[in-house]
Amino acid sequence: QSCLDRIEKVDSDIHSFITLDGEAALLQADQADQKRKEGDNGKLLGIPLGLKDLLCTRNLRTTCGSNILSNFIPPYDATVVESIKKEGGVILGKLTMDEFAMGSTSETCSFGVPENPWKKGYVAGGSSGGSATSVASGECFVTLGSDTGGSIRQPASLCGVVGLKPTYGRVSRYGLVAYASSLDQIGPFSRDVADSALMMNVISGYDRRDSTSVNREVPDYSQALVEGVKGLKVGVPREYFGEGLDPEVRTIVENGIRILQEQGAEIVEVSLPHTEYCIAVYYLIAPAEASSNLARYDGVAYGYREKEAETLLEMYKESRSVGFGAEVKRRILIGTYALSSGYYDAYYKKASQVRTLILGDFNRAFEQCDVLISPVVPTPAWKKGENVDDPLSLYLSDILTVSANLAGIPGMSVPGGFSSEGLPVGIQLQGPHFREDTLLRVAYNIE
Ligand code: GLN
Repeated sequence: QSCLDRIEKVDSDIHSFITLDGEAALLQADQADQKRKEGDNGKLLGIPLGLKDLLCTRNLRTTCGSNILSNFIPPYDATVVESIKKEGGVILGKLTMDEFAMGSTSETCSFGVPENPWKKGYVAGGSSGGSATSVASGECFVTLGSDTGGSIRQPASLCGVVGLKPTYGRVSRYGLVAYASSLDQIGPFSRDVADSALMMNVISGYDRRDSTSVNREVPDYSQALVEGVKGLKVGVPREYFGEGLDPEVRTIVENGIRILQEQGAEIVEVSLPHTEYCIAVYYLIAPAEASSNLARYDGVAYGYREKEAETLLEMYKESRSVGFGAEVKRRILIGTYALSSGYYDAYYKKASQVRTLILGDFNRAFEQCDVLISPVVPTPAWKKGENVDDPLSLYLSDILTVSANLAGIPGMSVPGGFSSEGLPVGIQLQGPHFREDTLLRVAYNIE
């Protein structure tokens, strides 16, 4: 009830929620209370939380931030939602996001744009904007988001909360509305590192319904927090501190490095030489996969259908023209072009080859260190509306986050400090595949 009161008080300004389900949440809370009395010790028993609106929830509208799915009510729960329910979590509702998770500010959402809780008029980041703002403004204790090229880490950084993108395959994507399937991962947002570890304990693990889910033992992430960082090797990737990095962001990250050094970590400089190609590779692969994934929204099986159309082709065309927003259409066009015959080798294939080189960079770096430390975003949050007509400069702001998705490695944002304008700045940690435990351990020693 106190979360619902808080939402009632602040959400008309913050706009974290697309769909709030207060009644159902109170019912779930009562059930949790009952279960507790019966001796149930579910990991999330009675904890109020929120979900990015691209995680399918049975009988609860799932819009993906898009008009084309404005009336879509899934008949099933995503695997992560099942896991949360099994552990007694209380689902408050569905959170704002860029349409189909395409964006870096949540401004492409068809149902209202979230506000940065630290400064009015500033972006919350994206695409999981609502997942970050609801935690930062005290509406939820924890939330889930998804990260295809930074969408958990970037809003976490801009809103001053913890955000973790797990290794590709660590968390089941079953029931996550697909953007770019080879890059998408679900992960937690929280106020502190311990809560992210707890959420990871709930959502990680093998799921036969996701063919890319990996069958590998899940460690107890909460246990990883107590180890300290003495003797750990922390790599500083030279290329992440180049031109365009805001000096205040640099200082905050350097401060994080110093904290780890003082606690006994060894700092080494490393190089990720293909970093300069990450944006180009990402913005070919992600739209290519998106154009293919979004072909399913044709007005036939579900979603918006244009009723006036006279022929089948007209119906497809009109439904998609009206249902999708401008950024989604742009990505579909770029992706379709990159995949078209005659261009496939020059664009998609080439990008896939360079993607392997980027993975090689990380593999070599992790021979020299246990974890990489860097900024998450080159700048603190910027003013709303500033980049809406300039997609290219918005794409460029993803430069420090997209490579983790291309390589499939885990990445995390932990609050590092504040800019002189009072805006939060996160510190990014990246680790080898399946070493979320190391990231959490290091983050715990920074926060
Ligand atoms: N900003 C990136 C994009 O627009 C990343 C989005 C994401 O991680 N979902 O594609």
